[in-house]
Parts: sequence; structure tokens; C-alpha cells
Amino acid sequence: GKPVCECNSCYGGPTCSHFLPDCVANADSGDPLFLEPFWMQHAESSALLVAGWHRMSYGFADQSSMSQVLQNHILKVHSISRNAITKGKYLVFGAGSTQLLSAAVFALSLNSSSLARVVAASPYYPVYKTQTDFFETAHFEFQGDALLMKRSSNSTGNVIEFVTSPNNPDGLLRKAVLQGSSVNAIYDHAYYWPHFTAIPAPADEDVMIFTISKLTGHAGSRFGWALVKDEDVYLNMLKYTQLAELGVSRDTQLRALQLLKVVLEGDGREIFHFAYEKMRDRWEKISQIVSLSKRYTIQDIPPQYCNFFEKVRGPSPAYVWLKCEREEDTNCNAVLRGANIIGRLGSLFNASDRYVRLSLLKRDDDFNLLLYRLKELVSKEGGAN
Ligand code: PMP
Repeated sequence: GKPVCECNSCYGGPTCSHFLPDCVANADSGDPLFLEPFWMQHAESSALLVAGWHRMSYGFADQSSMSQVLQNHILKVHSISRNAITKGKYLVFGAGSTQLLSAAVFALSLNSSSLARVVAASPYYPVYKTQTDFFETAHFEFQGDALLMKRSSNSTGNVIEFVTSPNNPDGLLRKAVLQGSSVNAIYDHAYYWPHFTAIPAPADEDVMIFTISKLTGHAGSRFGWALVKDEDVYLNMLKYTQLAELGVSRDTQLRALQLLKVVLEGDGREIFHFAYEKMRDRWEKISQIVSLSKRYTIQDIPPQYCNFFEKVRGPSPAYVWLKCEREEDTNCNAVLRGANIIGRLGSLFNASDRYVRLSLLKRDDDFNLLLYRLKELVSKEGGAN
């Protein structure tokens, strides 16, 4: 029989051509499907066929549990995107960067005898808190906002600061807010790619974490890596991944390798151009709509020199950090919900509920609907004011 048409959630009818007027623009999750068309253009070369007998071994007897070829490909991607200094650093694989965030907290807290206090400057990615709370040990605990700690000048003793650069939710480049010999920073560089930000200089921090999720869009493969300067920290992070899962799935490593081979085809710059153009175009369209509004504002990201493009370039962030400016709109998410837009509430990021995060990472369909709903929302302002 005929294949049953699976309509996008906003369309109905036998040919999926009937627009459903009440359908909701869901801009909540950070699922990076905006890269799907890139992979459709490279469907054949990115395909992977693995015979049943291939790579059955745990992989520690005859070879390293971390594929050497994959390591070399990762180093090459950094050298082409010019976003990190890899020389003199150890490489650790993880099941997504999520696992490595936790591994880094463990490793850095084992470094000292006193309790390590884990902080991040608001607004911050919520997982730093939820994960640290959940896996709390006698060696570390989550303490909240790094800015509060800085203000109270209470950063003595072992402190671990998560630094997200560029930041989720607001896309701004960041440096650690706390300084001192007892402060260790974990740089979460999930978005430190030309897709999402200018690269002012290659990052050269002691602990840097990257992920394939936001580089190639393959969030489902669960693959990330860390670049670590200190040997003891590296060994403890490696031990964490070995004890948690005997290392990263060999199947995942094969998939990641195949994807990075395609990324490195030609001069290795195509994916960065593709992703940057798409994200910049989305940001410009959103900015244009919001500029017509008196009630809503979005974050300001200054143009900066980019080491990858070798010129000053404008913003192309992964998320809109939208603010409701009207006095009475204290719950911005509820205001947007009334306009059929679903975002993520500011308080989840330890910020005010006057803010909402909207994802720009989803498919074109989702983005276009978000644009449509925002236009509708802004155009209604005139009458009511
Ligand atoms: N860090 C940040 C700042 C993120 O936004 C995300 C995903 N949304 C992650 C880490 C986790 O990514 P993954 O585990 O897929 O590598």
C-alpha cells in the first residue's frame, strides 16, 4: 500500500498541506537538527555499515579503548576550526559531554583534601546543578552562583567553576569569574564552534570539554571529548569513564569517526560555513522581528574578530535569550505560551522568569513556525498599547 504520510505537528489532512491554526511553536529543546540538511547532502559518504563480526572486542587487550584514528581526526577538526590549542593536552572520550562534566568534577575534587564547592555564574546551564547534586560525594557539593561567591569574597578553599563559553542560554563568550590558586575551571565549549560564535582566539584552558552533539548535530550518538592539561586530572577522568562504562561504546566511536571523515573532506571548512550561514540567517530574522517590539528584547552580542573566518563577524547564537520588558509580564514564559510559543523558563537557568530561552537549533519547519508566531505576537502590540 501507499506509505502513510507522517505530518509535521502543524499540518494535517491527507497530504499534510492543511495548516493547523492553533499549533504550537516548540522552541524548548536544544536538539541540534538544523544540521540535518548538511548530512542529507552527504548521505552516502556519511553512511556506516558494520559487519556483525567487526569490533566485537572490549578493545583493551589488542588496542586502546580510545580509537587512535578518531583522536587524530578530532585534533584535525580543532586545527581547521582554530578553536582550541591541543598541543600538550591529553584527550579523554566520554558518553556525550554530559558524562565528562561529571568526570571533571570528580577528578578535580579528588585533587584536594577539602570539600570542593562547585559553582557557575548565572544564567547557567541547569545540568551543572542537577548533575552535581545527584552525584554528590564527600568530596564536592553544588554551591550555586559564582557571582554571589565572588561578591561575598568567599572563594577560599577548593572551588570548581563551570564556565560555559559561549554561554547557554545567552550565547556570550565567558571567562571564569573566580580567580586564585584554589579555583579550578571546567570550560564547557559545547558551542565554541564557528557555527555559534566568533572564535577570538584558540581556547587554551586546563580543562576543556567539547561534544559532537553541537558540532555535527549527532546528539543521539552520545559522544564528547575533553582536552586536559594536567596528567593526574586526565588519569582520574579516564578512570571515571572506565569505571562508569568501560569507556565509550566502540560503535559510537566508529560512527563519530565516519562523521568526522566527512567533516574533514576537501578543506574541512564546509560544515562551518553551512552551520554559520544558517544560524546567522536565523538570528537576523529573529532580531528584525524583535526590533519592532516595545515589549520584548533579546540579548546583545557584539561583533568580534573571528580566528576562523579571519574577519570581524556578527552573532549566530544557538539560543535567543528573550526578555519581557513590560512591568506586568513577570512570567515571560506564560506570556509566550499565550501566543503559542513554548520556551524554557528563565528560573531554570537561575535567572529571572522575565527571561525565556528559545532554541534556534531545530529544523527549518520548527524555526519558521517560531518566526511566524513571534511576528504574530509583535504585530498585536500596536492595538493593545
Ligand atoms: N553543555 C552545554 C552547555 C549544553 O548546552 C549541552 C547540551 N544541550 C551539553 C553540555 C550536553 O551535551 P552532550 O551531552 O549531548 O554532549
